[in-house]
Amino acid sequence: MPRRGSAYFLGLCILISGCGTFHGPGGPPRAISASASPAVPGSKTPASQRDGSGAVPSGPAKPLAGKTVGIDPGHNGRNEDDPSYINHMIWNGREEETCDTTGTESDDGYTEAAFNFNVARLLRDDLLRAGARVILTRNSNDGVGPCVTRRAQILNRADPDVAIAIHADGGPAWGRGFTVLEPVADGPNDKIIKSSVRFGGDVRSALLAGTQMPESDYYGDHGVIFRDDLAGLNLASEPKILIECGNMRNATDARLLTTTRFQRRLAAALTAAIVAFLGGR
Ligand code: ZN
Repeated sequence: MPRRGSAYFLGLCILISGCGTFHGPGGPPRAISASASPAVPGSKTPASQRDGSGAVPSGPAKPLAGKTVGIDPGHNGRNEDDPSYINHMIWNGREEETCDTTGTESDDGYTEAAFNFNVARLLRDDLLRAGARVILTRNSNDGVGPCVTRRAQILNRADPDVAIAIHADGGPAWGRGFTVLEPVADGPNDKIIKSSVRFGGDVRSALLAGTQMPESDYYGDHGVIFRDDLAGLNLASEPKILIECGNMRNATDARLLTTTRFQRRLAAALTAAIVAFLGGR
């Protein structure tokens, strides 16, 4: 995705960084919108893109014009400060799970929460340059939560065309690679299973083509696993996957994951996957 600097985009970025505040336990759910203009119901997809041709008529600089993308950066930087809130049980659509967890970290102490948030910001900026409206489930890395149920609610209410949850794994030290977590039909998410699987394929292909991260050699099957125990996938009403971008407990993966250079490549690859998915192939 070509990078373009302009006052217009700079203005958007300033808008985003200033438009979100942390809502702690009990605070109201709130979508943090990074949009140049509000979404208009029924007009997310321009008529010119609904002609069945599969073509994306907008110019290459704005392949996501008219599209809305949800990003959920997993965990939060201060989750460990409020264990009673983070550990309280929520209903994830099939069973109970905890509100959230602290996430993992590298052996050097680089936290997964920071990684997730950094990649989310880079991805947001790339998506904005591509013309998308972007919704984040949290807008800082120095808060607690929100719970995984509330994250799903924030995204669902924004009615995005696609959504992605960003994580990194805490696997065995010998294991390497990324894994795409995909939903299993449970009623509320029945309509987004096929499209989520297709999006997961786009993400897998983009990461293999655009980053140095291999598919996982310890988790899932060729970098893909279906999970029915996660609120973020069980409760989704839009095409959605969760990406474990690598294993923070593996020294080789951690060397990649903790660099801004790799995080930028990752964001670019995820942007490419989103463009491919929403391009209507
Ligand atoms: Zn995580």
